Amino acid sequence: MNGNLYERLCAHADPESAFARQAGRGVITYAALRARSAQYANALLDLGVKPGDRVLVQAEKSAEAILLYLGCLRCGAVYVPLNPAYTIAEVEHYVGDAQPRVIVCSPGRVAAVLAVGQRLGVEHVVTLGGAEHAGSLAERADHCDANCPSAECDAADLAAIIYTSGTTGRAKGAMLTHGNLAANAYALKACWRFTPQDLLLHALPLFHIHGLFVAVNVTLAAGASLLVLPGFDVDAIVQNLPAASVYMGVPTHYLRLLQDRRVDHELAAQVRLFVSGSAPLLPETHAEWLSRTGHSILERYGMSETGIIASNPCGGERVAGTVGQPLPGVSVRVVDPDSGAPLPTGHPGMIEVKGPNVFVGYWRMPDRTRAEFRADGYFVTGDVGAFDARGYLRIVGRSKDLIITGGFNVYPREVEAELEAIAGVLESAVFGVPHPDFGEGVTAVVVACSALGADAVLAQLKQRLAGYKCPKRILFAAELPRNAMGKVQKSVLRGQYAQLYQPAHVPRSVQS
Ligand code: AMP
Repeated sequence: MNGNLYERLCAHADPESAFARQAGRGVITYAALRARSAQYANALLDLGVKPGDRVLVQAEKSAEAILLYLGCLRCGAVYVPLNPAYTIAEVEHYVGDAQPRVIVCSPGRVAAVLAVGQRLGVEHVVTLGGAEHAGSLAERADHCDANCPSAECDAADLAAIIYTSGTTGRAKGAMLTHGNLAANAYALKACWRFTPQDLLLHALPLFHIHGLFVAVNVTLAAGASLLVLPGFDVDAIVQNLPAASVYMGVPTHYLRLLQDRRVDHELAAQVRLFVSGSAPLLPETHAEWLSRTGHSILERYGMSETGIIASNPCGGERVAGTVGQPLPGVSVRVVDPDSGAPLPTGHPGMIEVKGPNVFVGYWRMPDRTRAEFRADGYFVTGDVGAFDARGYLRIVGRSKDLIITGGFNVYPREVEAELEAIAGVLESAVFGVPHPDFGEGVTAVVVACSALGADAVLAQLKQRLAGYKCPKRILFAAELPRNAMGKVQKSVLRGQYAQLYQPAHVPRSVQS
């Protein structure tokens, strides 16, 4: 059997049924999905793409971008999606690391990306975006054959590299195989009872595992349909929710929807499943959603390196504040982080995971890979959690110094490095504190040797970093709190500024 993920996911769907709808772009049937993804595969083959070559894609979200993703799988390329919000400096870093054969970017960015491509010896920079079938790659694909045999792949062949920012330096590319992604898609299809009748309202980004490998792959595995929104927008969700059977979001989505009076039992009457993940869902949000809509949100837990690890059940009890039980076939243990010894039920420790969903390592980082796997093959997630007596997992914190803001991950070291590159900044500490809308707000304390204003620092930072990584507040201090070893005590800063974004300080109405 061909282990190519495209074949595993798409070979069985009814060709006449709808795969995706997008406002202003009509319906894409599964037959059209096959034809168009074959055209993209052929267009990439024409550009000289060989199995294992990376295709780096920084495109605006659209149904067409999903067809390009499938085209990459079909020709055996390794799909490398990037957040469209990344600055050119960030793109340059990822291009240097991934060394793609082809870069696909939006037409508006082509001049700057072309310069990066030329500097780093990338053979082709092509575009996708704007109107339907627009961009040089889309036009190339229009002239290609609508049939293409999928490249023969082994389950162990690479399908994608997902960059998760590193705690040191910038990028760590998690290498996911065709087998990893197929295993997770089918485990979730069963766990969440997806059928061809499902219509998933898709408001998540496509460059992250949640929107791509969870939402899209599960939909494909079931032969179900997507309603593709360009992004999260309360009005668009309210307008389209009555047609949908499933919604997947990050906790910030649910918080924002709860601020809109139109969200009630009637609006959600046809939905069978609301899923939340990527960041902790507060039990209060879970309770408020239940009372407002009659639905108990299903919370699940996963990460780029592993796909989904654990989930609350579709049929059984969904317990607020927990991420449910490990998926079938996925083995999860909680251990003492130093000794690796298993801990008894109820004791928090390092969450470790093993299974067919777990990635094969970090791209060109063998030392880093070795450091994050135990000798018996378990991956050390960096998350701290505990199992309860029923076998439900509760995540209590992160040992890695990660901030999750609105479902996006921000690694403090990356922001600190950019802050410290600004003239006049001596040192800085970046950390997350509770934020009523984003879960955590990125916050910076800066020690400066000259009179610098927060606005001026932020303006410079915005040229270097995607908006979600930029601090919501920049505060100035004469010195940073340090321990006897000279290490900055972020826990002291987190305590000191714990109330910074609390309702007394922040207007309740939220601008998106
Ligand atoms: P990413 O690789 O961007 O998906 O981020 C993965 C990280 O998000 C995990 O290691 C967790 O720290 C966090 N995460 C994901 N889902 C949850 C959840 N339901 N509750 C708490 N943290 C979560």
